[in-house]
Amino acid sequence: MTIMIQDPQTVIAPETNGKTQTYELNPFAIAQRQLDEAVEILELDDATHEMLRWPMRELRFTIPVRMDDGSVKVFHGYRVQYNDSRGPAKGGLRFHPQETIDTVRALSAWMTWKTAVVDIPLGGGKGGVTCNPKELSMAELERLSRGYMRRVAGFIGPETDVPAPDVYTTPQIMAWMRDEYEAIHMHQAPGIITGKPLELGGSAGRGDATARGGIYTTREAAKVLGIELRGATAAVQGYGNAGFFGHKLGVDILGLKIIAASDSKGGVYNADGLDYDELAAWKQETGSVINFPGSTFISNEDLLELDVTVLMPSALENVITAVNADRIKAKIITELANGPTTPEADVILHDKGIYVIPDFLCNAGGVTVSYFEQVQNAYNFYWTEDEVHVRLDQKMTSAFYNVHEMAERMDVHNRLAAYLVAVDRVAKAMKLRGWV
Ligand code: GLU
Repeated sequence: MTIMIQDPQTVIAPETNGKTQTYELNPFAIAQRQLDEAVEILELDDATHEMLRWPMRELRFTIPVRMDDGSVKVFHGYRVQYNDSRGPAKGGLRFHPQETIDTVRALSAWMTWKTAVVDIPLGGGKGGVTCNPKELSMAELERLSRGYMRRVAGFIGPETDVPAPDVYTTPQIMAWMRDEYEAIHMHQAPGIITGKPLELGGSAGRGDATARGGIYTTREAAKVLGIELRGATAAVQGYGNAGFFGHKLGVDILGLKIIAASDSKGGVYNADGLDYDELAAWKQETGSVINFPGSTFISNEDLLELDVTVLMPSALENVITAVNADRIKAKIITELANGPTTPEADVILHDKGIYVIPDFLCNAGGVTVSYFEQVQNAYNFYWTEDEVHVRLDQKMTSAFYNVHEMAERMDVHNRLAAYLVAVDRVAKAMKLRGWV
């Protein structure tokens, strides 16, 4: 079936009866729609609903950057503080060519539900720059990162809004940003940003935390479903930080056999399983997983439809939609990405009996260890990696059962259940503050 992309925010899928149907793919419209459904079930009042539908505050700006060839390029940047009723706004920064104010709004809304569902004392925020970091030299990337921080330094802070890494941003970028913030404010402030390098106030265990949290929830999902994961097959869509560690920890902790993995250029398949160290080295060397020795090519679309036990969408939004949901065969979907599944697809997957571990629960391990990082920065005393793992496991496992039990009790799909848990907590905080 061909998908016609009319504009990046809409997909038109041919229907079986010959008529075409249009689906909204603007991530912020999707985020609002998901919220609306939860608000109706929770019977929240109109003011609470309106507060939850929109970012509390947002900043858009331009960043002039001197390029290596002497010219100046102007980039567009964003920082959105969605809701801080439960604590300082918290969420990553994305450097991506498709970044828009609406992707940032959606991601900041999902951060609000994410910190609430794992019950850490933080709100939700997000930021980004429309750019292609693959086309920038290290020196240009540093100037862009410092330029970003100069624009937001008066708007964020350890007690107001704390950024972190996301797609295409790294611990090195966090280090430059911490340095720039401290140069502006003329004092040390390690808690201004998380996901820092270990040498500069980062936390042990932050590097693989997003995937690790998702792997812990997958372990619990398999338990409640009575599925044996040891030796079972899995596929990883997207091979950035979350996807690579999803592969590694899926093998090391759960005993999964990863038979396919992909990135933006395409995917690789091997029925006997792919070795994560070798595949990562190959991607490092060649820039992509494709052509990995001993594997055959598989497209991103076909990878999603493989007959595997666990599917890990680990890249960007809107990969499981009304168009392909019916052809998904996995038993468990471990959503390491933010927003990979559209609302129409959620209903289809639920009807098919596929167990979705929804994004803002599944990938909350990253922000949970970011929170641990802030706690350690404030104490100026650092934990061992084992301590981080134990505390992360407790948080993820308890959040998993909060959502699982809500889904059973209310007879709703897991994403809606996660919304019910999270939105209720944020609404209560706003009520207690007297906002609504
Ligand atoms: N960018 C990550 C996320 O989407 C981590 C955010 C954080 O650590 O603040 O959850």
